[in-house]
Amino acid sequence: VISIEEARAHISSCVAALEARRVPIEQALGCVAATDVIATEAIPGFDNSSMDGFALRADDTSEHGAQLRIIDVVLAGSTSTRTIEPGEATRIMTGAPLPPGADAVEMVEEVSVDPTTATVTVRRRVTRGTFVRHRGDDVAVGDVLVRRGEVLTDARIGVLASQGLVEVEAIPRPRVGVLSTGDELTDAGDPLAPGAIRDVNRPMLMALVRDAGMDPVDLGAVRDRHDETLAAISSAAATCDAVLTTGGVSMGDVDFVKVAIGELGGPEARSLQIAMRPGKPMAFGCVGERRVPVFGLPGNPVSTKVSFEVLARPALLARAGRTVSDRLTVPAIADVPLSRERDGKTHMVHVDLGLGPDGRFHIREARREGSHLLHAVASANAIAVIPDGEGARAGDEVRVMVLRPDDVVTRAPRDG
Ligand code: AMP
Ligand code: MG
Repeated sequence: VISIEEARAHISSCVAALEARRVPIEQALGCVAATDVIATEAIPGFDNSSMDGFALRADDTSEHGAQLRIIDVVLAGSTSTRTIEPGEATRIMTGAPLPPGADAVEMVEEVSVDPTTATVTVRRRVTRGTFVRHRGDDVAVGDVLVRRGEVLTDARIGVLASQGLVEVEAIPRPRVGVLSTGDELTDAGDPLAPGAIRDVNRPMLMALVRDAGMDPVDLGAVRDRHDETLAAISSAAATCDAVLTTGGVSMGDVDFVKVAIGELGGPEARSLQIAMRPGKPMAFGCVGERRVPVFGLPGNPVSTKVSFEVLARPALLARAGRTVSDRLTVPAIADVPLSRERDGKTHMVHVDLGLGPDGRFHIREARREGSHLLHAVASANAIAVIPDGEGARAGDEVRVMVLRPDDVVTRAPRDG
């Protein structure tokens, strides 16, 4: 039996990031930039108005008001070539280029327009540069737009788009194969024979993979046969960038996944017994020339979920080139006792985390534990990490892995 840290270190020592390639920016969300991207265009590209109003010469205005002749109108997307001379103004819309001669804009709300004389009265003094967005305010030519190693977030994709870029050199989203094992598994729509169950893990793992920003590949289910398990895992490793299997890694007579991973994997391939509950058994190895990591996750759904969170997800994110690959982990006050027995394992307990009026995180409730009780934990937004010992009393501080941060902030206190 090894600790969670030892298991994670063993896995991460053999998982390498994928090779970079050109990725279209609309597919690049969550990918890691493989090079610095340098600006070739200034943003804004030209001086323009930040208001609907009038472009004018600041020197023409005064605190006693000034009447200016309206000589032109300029809309966003067009230009005005009429130079503004002393005593003149041009009607201008947000985003339109500043006409020649203008050095400021007054907003339309602060002026009165007389259409019959085609004049505008500017009521107050306007200083040079007012409501003008200057060329290069945000980005100058040569600036680093995105650095190598940075994650391509929504806003960074917007920044790349602002330069007219359609592709970016990045580590691609890993294709993660998901394979179930077990004679008892029955597809949705098929009748349940005596002793049979539905396949829960495959749809759940595919959703977890997608939620982690990767592309799941449905590899179906294999029966508990040595040869079929071996063939399924080796073909998965040939077509995917990483593989998740479930079931077949404990002490049963037909637990062939751990055998197959041991046979197919390199020298680091092994069955792991991890001091964690749930999620003690697991197999891991890197298969084939491409050293595709294969995670043999345990079969009970809550164990599958916890093993994915603690052991597979960080390694998959590393495969995607991420340097920060762990869930946000925060200290939280246990509002309820989280008692446990000493058994040499770290307990992973699904909990409801909320933000208290004291500005601290609070565990409002602990979910029922049991590796087969998926519904009981399904709506929990966090997992409390309870080290070996007697557990936490109410009021103690506990470390909590946040699964859904948005949900933490909006969650109401347990008792109203
Ligand atoms: P195993 O390690 O293969 O013996 O599986 C442990 C438990 O998890 C058994 O009760 C299996 O029926 C159950 N199990 C395995 N795979 C799945 C799955 N894909 N969906 C739901 N339950 C599963
Ligand atoms: Mg099985």
